[in-house]
Order: sequence, then C-alpha cells, then structure tokens
Amino acid sequence: MYIADLTPGPVLSDEERARDAAWLDYLASVTPDAAFLTKLPVLPVGWLDKEHPFPTEAPDPEVVYKLGQTLWDRENFMMGYHVCEFCEVPSPGFGVTVDNVPGILGSSTILVPGDGVMYSCPDLVFHYVRDHHYRPPDEFLRAVRRYERRRK
Ligand SMILES: [Zn+2]
Repeated sequence: MYIADLTPGPVLSDEERARDAAWLDYLASVTPDAAFLTKLPVLPVGWLDKEHPFPTEAPDPEVVYKLGQTLWDRENFMMGYHVCEFCEVPSPGFGVTVDNVPGILGSSTILVPGDGVMYSCPDLVFHYVRDHHYRPPDEFLRAVRRYERRRK
C-alpha cells in the first residue's frame, strides 16, 4: 500500500486505528508525559512501492541504529507478511537481527513521536533505509534520532 510521505489525514483502516489507539493508551500509561501523544495527528512515512520513486542516500549509521530500536516497539501485527517490492528475490517477511535478537519485518507498524505529530511507518522502513537507501523526510530523521526504546 503506497502513501506519499507526510500525507495528512487518516492512513489506517478502522481496525488499524483501533489498534493504534491501544498503543497510544499504552504509551500514555508507561510514559509520564505521553498523554498528549494520543491527540497527535498521524503522518505516514515510508509506505513505498515500486511505482513511486523515492529519494535515496547512503544511510546514517545512527539512523539505522535508532530505527532498529523502534522495532522493539512494533505494533499492529497483521496476518501474513508484506513483501519488499525492491528486493530482487522478494520473500514474504524480511529477517533482521537487532541487538542480537532475530525478527521478521513486514507485518507490523512503528510509531515515532515527532514535534507535535506521530509518524506511522511500516516496520520495513528499517530495511528500506538500511538496504535500499531510502531517505525519509528530514523531520522524520530528526524524530528517529531522538527515539528512545519504550519496551525493555
Ligand atoms: Zn528489500
């Protein structure tokens, strides 16, 4: 499912929004000052597909590291896996190892708090940035650099 980066407006199905609401409630419960997060507009980043070219750049290792940390906080696990359309040999689900823990990307989303907004990304954004050199918008990169893992 392609969505242009930073497109305002609803980007999730009703079911997905309901799951995000649970996640936002969770954030508010574990982060003392996070209650405000539940009211933030959600902006999409990294919902790429083959029909829409995207900007590229060799990834900043710090951004790759921090995006890896966001994977600990993945939510919205779906049935089945989204295939990376940019890999030469696409496979359902993409295996990664972060902090020596293996995982599979392609079936969940991550939420990254920004300045007055919440960015919503497919977890494959980690793979898109690291392996396909997708360059997300500056404001998202700033938010990622500030990211602190919420689940230990
Ligand atoms: Zn790929």
